[in-house]
Amino acid sequence: MLIYLEKRAENFEVAQNILKKFPDAQVLRIDHYKNIFDKRIENQKLIPAIIIAKDEHPNILDVPENYWYPWKSFFFKSSLNCVFDCEYCYLKWNFKTQYPVIFVNYDDIKNIIRDKINELREWWYQWQITFYASNYSDIQGLDSLSWFNQEFIPFMEEFDNVLMETRTKSANIDSLFQINNWVPFKNTEISFSLNPDEIIAKFEKWTSSLGKRIESINRLIDKWYKVWLRFLPLLPVKDYIEIYTKFLERIKKEILIEKINSLFIASLIYNQWDFKTMQKKNPDSELWNFVTLHDNWLVKLPDDIFESFVSLFKTAFPNTKIYFDFI
Ligand code: SF4
Repeated sequence: MLIYLEKRAENFEVAQNILKKFPDAQVLRIDHYKNIFDKRIENQKLIPAIIIAKDEHPNILDVPENYWYPWKSFFFKSSLNCVFDCEYCYLKWNFKTQYPVIFVNYDDIKNIIRDKINELREWWYQWQITFYASNYSDIQGLDSLSWFNQEFIPFMEEFDNVLMETRTKSANIDSLFQINNWVPFKNTEISFSLNPDEIIAKFEKWTSSLGKRIESINRLIDKWYKVWLRFLPLLPVKDYIEIYTKFLERIKKEILIEKINSLFIASLIYNQWDFKTMQKKNPDSELWNFVTLHDNWLVKLPDDIFESFVSLFKTAFPNTKIYFDFI
């Protein structure tokens, strides 16, 4: 195990905790994480490594229009890259290395979130403000190192009408049970991405099996967590109607859907620039057969295929509101 440690990140508590966890790791002190992260080392055989860094300019970004929840919504990041390897994921293709980066200056990140909420409230904005935490990594997959949950879930509770979504394909949820809470957290939703086992095995390398994800969802519901099910990306593999029908029967049998906060379905979708990069880097992927270029320059499932998925989900969950992207 190799740890690249930015010198200015060394004294942060999260950095110290990670170093204590790996007493035998080789630690290389570096001036700036980009000196490693932006090196094009791609598929060379590498020993496992993580990068610990300080985000000099933490920022939050507006989400595109029609991105899930209505109202004001933002992305923020506390880590980059993912410990999993989903074939359709744009992260691996966008970043030059596969090493996860953990930014340890949590107080700076919290401050920009707090400032944004205060600014909107000063302008009399009263509706829900949503923060998406997992668009640059699978937070839960890294949480035994990053301790994100311990820091950010209680922090979000300070505000009214604010929601943070963290999304995962990991069944490693123990850190969520180590936060002291005697009442349910009202401002965090743990969102699980789900797909049939056939698709997980083929396209979602190293992620938890469907059975393990279902087990985790049930444990979280029992512990009063708000859980969001995201069925994405929907993939029309051979015999997909039959495969997804059986999958949805299993979901309904094994999860108490009445206790789920929301359901969401989405196409495999890219902007055309990301799509070209991904296609170039993995030209033989079966995934590219599933998508077509649409008038709005997005590359996604053909409308009729997506409609067939919508219909499957509406039949399976007739009494539940299902959100889907209208893009
Ligand atoms: S779990 Fe999410 S972030 Fe990680 S590789 Fe898969 S799609 Fe990407």
